[in-house]
Amino acid sequence: MKPTGAAQMAGVAGDPIAHSLSPSLMAAWIEAAGLDAIYSPFRIARSDAETFFRALARTQCAGLNVTLPHKQTALAVADQVSPAARAIGAANLLTFRDGIIHADNTDATGFLSALLARGVEPARGPALVLGAGGAARAIVYALGQAGVPEIRLSNRSRSNAADLALDLAPNARIHDWDDRDQGLDGVALVVNATSLGLSGGSDLAMDWHRAPADTIAADSVYKPLQTGFLRDAAACGLGTVDGLGMLIGQARPSFEAFFGISPPERIDAHALLRAMLEPAS
Ligand code: NDP
Repeated sequence: MKPTGAAQMAGVAGDPIAHSLSPSLMAAWIEAAGLDAIYSPFRIARSDAETFFRALARTQCAGLNVTLPHKQTALAVADQVSPAARAIGAANLLTFRDGIIHADNTDATGFLSALLARGVEPARGPALVLGAGGAARAIVYALGQAGVPEIRLSNRSRSNAADLALDLAPNARIHDWDDRDQGLDGVALVVNATSLGLSGGSDLAMDWHRAPADTIAADSVYKPLQTGFLRDAAACGLGTVDGLGMLIGQARPSFEAFFGISPPERIDAHALLRAMLEPAS
C-alpha cells in the first residue's frame, strides 16, 4: 500500500548512505507485509549525528539502523543499551519509545544467523577471525556467545587485535598478520572481517590448502559478492558464506523492532540484493 500520513517510520543513518542496500530490502518487506510504513535513508554528517538521533527520538519515528561512521555515537547517545551493544562497543540499531533511545547491536546475531541459514554450526571447531574493527568485534562477540571452543585472531595492526582480545576473547590466540596462515591449521571457520576484498581494493589472500577440507570461509564484505577470499576458498573445495547473509541477518531483527512483525518469509532477500549487486549485463 502507499504510505499515508499515519505511516510508521524508520530509516538508516550513515555517511555515505547512497550505497546502502537496507532501504531496498526494507521496502520489499514493507510492501510484502502490506504495512503502512516508510523506511528512509538519511545522510548525516558526523557532527550532526547526536542532535539528529535525539531529535528523531522525539518524533513518531520507530527507530534507525546506524552505519558508518555513527555506530559509536549511537551507543553514546542511548538511554538504554543492550548487553551485546555494550560489549561490542557499537550500536547498529536504535529504537525510540516515548523519547527514550534504546541501542542494540544486531550485527552479531546477523552473522550467526547467516551461518545457521547455510547449515554451518559455528561451535563445531576453532574459528579464525581476520580483522579487529567494528565488524570483527561483532563477529568475535557472536562466536563467543555461540560457544566456539577456540578463537584465533589476526589483524594488520597487532595491537588492535590485542585490544579486541582483551575486551571480548581473553583466551584468543593472536597470529601476526604475515603469519595468519598458521591460524588455518585445524580450523573450522575462517572469517574475513577486514575491508580487504571491497570493490576496487586488494583481495585477502590465504593459503587455503593448509585448511582442513571441511573448513567454511565466511566474508563480511558483500560488494562484490564473490570476493577473491571466497573464490580462492571455493577453488580449494571449501564451503563459503557471503557477506549478504550477515547484512540480511542484522536487518531481520531491526524490521521486527521497528514494525512489530517478522519480515515476510516469501521474500527471497538474498536473491533480491544479489540482483542489485550483480545486475544482468
Ligand atoms: P573498520 O574500519 O572498523 O575495520 C577495518 C579492518 O580492516 C581493520 O581490522 C583494519 O586493520 C583492516 N584493514 C583495512 N585495510 C587493510 C589492509 N590494507 N590490509 C589489511 N587489513 C586492513 O571497518 P568495519 O569493521 O566496520 O568493516 C569491515 C568490513 O566489514 C567492511 O568491508 C564492511 O563493509 C564489512 N561489514 C559488513 C557487514 C555486513 O552486514 N555484511 C556489517 C559491517 C561491516 P587495522 O586495525 O590494522 O587498521
